[in-house]
Amino acid sequence: MPIYIVILGAPGAGKGTQAEILSENMNLPHVSSGDIFRENIKNETELGKHADSYMNRGELVPDDVTIALIRDRLSRPDCKNGAILDGFPRTPGQAEALDKMLAEFDGKVDLVPFILVKDEYLIERLSSRWTCKDQGHIFNDKFNPPKEEGICDFDGSELYQRDDDKPETVKNRIAVYLEQTSPLIEHYRSTGVLKDINGARKIENVAKELVLALQFMEEL
Ligand code: AMP
Repeated sequence: MPIYIVILGAPGAGKGTQAEILSENMNLPHVSSGDIFRENIKNETELGKHADSYMNRGELVPDDVTIALIRDRLSRPDCKNGAILDGFPRTPGQAEALDKMLAEFDGKVDLVPFILVKDEYLIERLSSRWTCKDQGHIFNDKFNPPKEEGICDFDGSELYQRDDDKPETVKNRIAVYLEQTSPLIEHYRSTGVLKDINGARKIENVAKELVLALQFMEEL
């Protein structure tokens, strides 16, 4: 049976970084809705143009578009053993659609690590975040600097600051998260798959706790 892990947390909690580590450890693809949208914006596709206007404002791209995008991604052969989902689902409608789609793939949401970081740290983290142009690897001036300034450690591409990491947009993204995404915490807690992770620590310590969470998953 395929394994699906949904990483939940506010913007800036470290979902992308942890999803990347988990993806390598578990040999499952890292599926980030935000990365797929950014790739489409870079390639100037119709989808990219549509998504860009929402992303610029820190709003969510409508559910129908986002759900179709993830369905397409999870249907690809590299996801046959499952995936690490980062940034999806973000609304109760998306969570419902995900359950249905995973049932079609003979799977379910197996584990939801919820990475908790206090709101006051999120803005600081996002404003010092750098993203790699080629593959979206993430660095941070303070907590995880690249070896060479402005260059990705992994693929040597240039690092840039995301437009939506500007303080005005970040505030809106956090508000949108609290309103539309945070209800998913209780939803997944009630179905027994949620595992709280303290995200206010060093990357490697958060990653260690995630490994422990995998053992919790095996006990479910
Ligand atoms: P992220 O890289 O996950 O922080 O996502 C960046 C932006 O992409 C978000 O602020 C949204 O505008 C859009 N986005 C990413 N994932 C979703 C989603 N599941 N539903 C709607 N919009 C999304």
